[in-house]
Amino acid sequence: MTRPTRFEHSQWLGDKRTQRVHDLDAATDACAIDELMAAETFLCFGPDTLPEARNRCYRPCRHCVTDDADAA
Ligand SMILES: [Zn+2]
Repeated sequence: MTRPTRFEHSQWLGDKRTQRVHDLDAATDACAIDELMAAETFLCFGPDTLPEARNRCYRPCRHCVTDDADAA
């Protein structure tokens, strides 16, 4: 899929509604990133890393984050 242009410099994108974090480098249609963009309930992390997302209690998306032990 096409990376949202406003996040061309970010890899990790959190969904505030579901507390899931997506890897934009591996996002699939199942991630519904376009819908997330439309709902504007997303956030970026600083630093832009998976550990930082975890620190904020975001869980990895099972569709696009594969290197994770506790993905549901
Ligand atoms: Zn995802």
